[in-house]
Amino acid sequence: MSAELLRFEEAHLRVQQAAAERARFQPPTEQAPLGEALGRVLAAPIVADEDQPPFARSTRDGFACRADEANRRAWLPIEGATHAGQQPGGPLPIGAAWEIMTGAPIPAGADAVAMVEHVERGGESVRLAEGRHLQAGENIVPRGAQAHSGETLLRSGARLGPAQIALAAACGCSTLAVYARPRVAILTTGDELVPVDATPGPGQIRNSNAPMLAALVAQAGGAPWVLPVAADAAEALDAALQQAAVADMLLISGGVSAGKFDLVEPALARRGARFHFTGVKMQPGKPLVFGELPSSTGDRSPLPFFGLPGNPVSSAATFLLFGATMLAAVAGAEPYEPQFAMAQLAGDVSGKPGLTRFLPARWQPNAHGGEPPTVVPVPWQGSGDQAAFARANCFLVVPEETPGLKAGMIARILIFQG
Ligand code: AMP
Ligand code: MG
Repeated sequence: MSAELLRFEEAHLRVQQAAAERARFQPPTEQAPLGEALGRVLAAPIVADEDQPPFARSTRDGFACRADEANRRAWLPIEGATHAGQQPGGPLPIGAAWEIMTGAPIPAGADAVAMVEHVERGGESVRLAEGRHLQAGENIVPRGAQAHSGETLLRSGARLGPAQIALAAACGCSTLAVYARPRVAILTTGDELVPVDATPGPGQIRNSNAPMLAALVAQAGGAPWVLPVAADAAEALDAALQQAAVADMLLISGGVSAGKFDLVEPALARRGARFHFTGVKMQPGKPLVFGELPSSTGDRSPLPFFGLPGNPVSSAATFLLFGATMLAAVAGAEPYEPQFAMAQLAGDVSGKPGLTRFLPARWQPNAHGGEPPTVVPVPWQGSGDQAAFARANCFLVVPEETPGLKAGMIARILIFQG
């Protein structure tokens, strides 16, 4: 249908704008026990219920003391001991030390902790080892240094990973208010598709996009809803779009190229779609379609959709580059950006004038010697090459302007695994 192709950057911007617009609608909220909160999106802030730490705590095993006394290397008699879990001891008498364990409260009067490895012991006294110096405050985290009681520590929209779950636990939250996972309808189209457990006949292929897109959606925090395959026929597509109307987001695979049986765009248009774009100057993914269908009931927000090109690598790349950004907004999550990074290219790659290329590649961290990560393109037979794609862990980005990239150059990659 419409022939205007956007530059990749422009398409990216339009998706970001639509996502920002969509973020004004809040998804419904539900409660999740902490043990099931991984990957969910917080619907209410997490607030510190007390100072963190709640008392000045030692970060080392050693001796609480006064730094200026310790620095004179006087022998300091050990007047008491506190280990983690005990009430604060003390007060610390003038000219004395207090044995203390990691995590234990500092006795009143002490202003530093000398590490056990940095003192000499003589009977029931200690002194700082020769050549050591202790600063006031050393090895002590003051009360409230990490957070103050009542402070917001995580905003709603934060995605819950292991660290965020630990923080919620530390604040006493055993269940969390989270946004309901958005239901993402996955509609695969194509007369050539047969189910995964069927043996393809001549000219047929297995429907690998349905489970792949379901996995991508789940990974991005959505609830995949796989619809039956739609045939390349107007009536079949109309019926499928009708069924998908109750979803929160819609991914359609196939049927968006310029061929005779690419009927998805007209079907979307029949349902009153507003198209944000209908093609991008990129490879793979050029026929990508993005827009919104009007709400089916009037009381819901519009239904964002992506018409993804059917070749598996195209579908995956366009979902990762565009779909995931929209899905984050639909999920109530903070704005999401594709995970770009820089890596040093091993080998030459050619460009395609007028298209931003996304080539399946493998990146590898290079921890030794502070070198940047390296990236090597995976040999492939084009965007239908699932075996090559399964060996990749990133896309190598070849910008539209370049005739190609040379070995040794620092190039942009889109990381999707590893
Ligand atoms: P299309 O975008 O509909 O022109 O599809 C392009 C090519 O992608 C088709 O010829 C198939 O080889 C492949 N393809 C389409 N849909 C799927 C699918 N659901 N699973 C795997 N491959 C597909
Ligand atoms: Mg097709």
